[in-house]
Amino acid sequence: MVAGDTIPRGSVRVSPIPPRLPGPPPEAAASRPEIWLVEERSGSEAYSHGLRIDTRFAVSNWKRSYPVFSHDGWQDNTWRLHTATEPVGIVYHTTESHLAPFDRHHNGRLRRLGRWLLEYVAKQKAYHFLIDRFGRVYRVVEETDAANHAGHSVWADQAGLYVNLNSSFLGVAFEAQSEPAAALTPAQISAGRQLTELLRSKYGIRPENCLTHAQVSVAPSMRRVGNHLDWGESFPFEDIGLPDNYAQPLAAIHRFGFRYTAEFLEVTGPRFWKGLLLGDELLRQDAAAVGLGPGEYRNQLQGKYRKMVAALPKPGERLVEETDGSEEQDFQGNEHEARRKQ
Ligand SMILES: [Zn+2]
Repeated sequence: MVAGDTIPRGSVRVSPIPPRLPGPPPEAAASRPEIWLVEERSGSEAYSHGLRIDTRFAVSNWKRSYPVFSHDGWQDNTWRLHTATEPVGIVYHTTESHLAPFDRHHNGRLRRLGRWLLEYVAKQKAYHFLIDRFGRVYRVVEETDAANHAGHSVWADQAGLYVNLNSSFLGVAFEAQSEPAAALTPAQISAGRQLTELLRSKYGIRPENCLTHAQVSVAPSMRRVGNHLDWGESFPFEDIGLPDNYAQPLAAIHRFGFRYTAEFLEVTGPRFWKGLLLGDELLRQDAAAVGLGPGEYRNQLQGKYRKMVAALPKPGERLVEETDGSEEQDFQGNEHEARRKQ
């Protein structure tokens, strides 16, 4: 069921549509705080802003390498893609694992649950980082590698379009549950903020590319957003040192043509609905600009999405660069046969 008009309008204040995919002011990058590795011992890393990362459980996976698709040219199959190897964003998750009451009487159980969880997510190569209830940060999958955290997922920024974010985005999981409403411990918030600062400093990650799993997850067979629902509401963006990214138009809607359902509205909330409404509005504007109705335009976007999925390298594979050394290559839609190598 399509539910584009079922959001109670009075419940959400939507500010005017922001400029499309704004770039950061030049001084923003320059003023990025410098954070450095102070000390590395077997099993831990200490950073200059106070963060410690426990590395005893770190595992490797396939090396990060992913295509970035160009915004333009897809109507006539002249779009381009280039291969990138650095992460461009962060996706925040909840582990949905068993939790014990957070008090001293449950200390033993809290520790045991955290340890079992850590062993499980390391085995699954499920995230890049795990933050337990005591705010301890564990490296799970090495930063140079992809982690199995995002599933079917999409996002877009001014550099291009990203499909399936296991490689392009770092996965940060909080030991927490969505129901009842996810609440982080103060130690988790503090650690989440420090970890976000470190990753943003290290890779130049833009604040608007720090998102929750519910914002990027899609169910392709049903053409809808929100296959995974973690942090569909109440992620503490401000406490983590980020703008309220729930207010960003959802790229899954206006860049990829996904829809949302009434059920999805029930499990998210007014903060999240802003992004849905803005996504709808941008989609309508873009459709009008090319003389199409929203439905027809959505179908075009979905066709484009399917072309992108078809062009994705398999995990661990890498698209071969053009022989002239150019970082970019033409992408010829369905006719394109990506040559691949390990
Ligand atoms: Zn998740």
